[in-house]
Amino acid sequence: MKLVLFGPPGVGKGSQARFLSKREGLTHISTGVLLRRAIRGGTEVGEQAKAYVESGKLVPGPLVRVLAEDAMTMVGLDRFVLDGYPRTIEQAEWLDSFLIEAGTQLDTVLSLACSDEVIIDRLSKRRVNKETGENYHLDFKPPPSDVSPNVIIQRKDDMPDAIKHRLEIYDKETHPVQDWYRQRGMLKDIDGDGSFEEVYERIRTAILEAESTS
Ligand code: AMP
Repeated sequence: MKLVLFGPPGVGKGSQARFLSKREGLTHISTGVLLRRAIRGGTEVGEQAKAYVESGKLVPGPLVRVLAEDAMTMVGLDRFVLDGYPRTIEQAEWLDSFLIEAGTQLDTVLSLACSDEVIIDRLSKRRVNKETGENYHLDFKPPPSDVSPNVIIQRKDDMPDAIKHRLEIYDKETHPVQDWYRQRGMLKDIDGDGSFEEVYERIRTAILEAESTS
């Protein structure tokens, strides 16, 4: 199964993709995680990407492409869930031709959506364990008391100005990718409102459907 989890920042792609990878044995490839790792590691890509990521802007395509390509190639282009890639039509076109050249294609693109209100609440109350990458929500999933508060951080791009910026960029550059996949008959809409478990069940059902038709 090769799939893309698509949707605006804060819709829950990352948490769902992480769970999916554990339950279904898919490799979770998040370009956001790869970029933050590169920034922490002080690599050349990280140095070039830092200012974009921290302010909520899209990192230039060629930089992200290298990370996505390496990660997909490493898992053998067989069982992966892409999260946060593609984010522009150009990236979607590149991904399509990269997979075709390798003799394969995506099985499905699952597009998660929920209201702006929910998204802003999830992003502004999100906290992250900087060592494990585990996400928390101040109200619904607060960081456990046995985890040191020193490792719990708020991402710089989860600050109000950066959130606003990310949502504007999503509308302008990323949302059109949805129609690109829809026109190709590859997109399934998933309601992202509701509990984590409810949304996961919708995702699983959509994957089973995609498997039965592929
Ligand atoms: P995420 O963790 O998916 O919310 O991504 C965090 C940040 O990483 C984004 O706001 C962008 O700055 C950058 N980023 C992640 N994926 C991409 C991508 N496919 N294209 C450009 N920038 C990206």
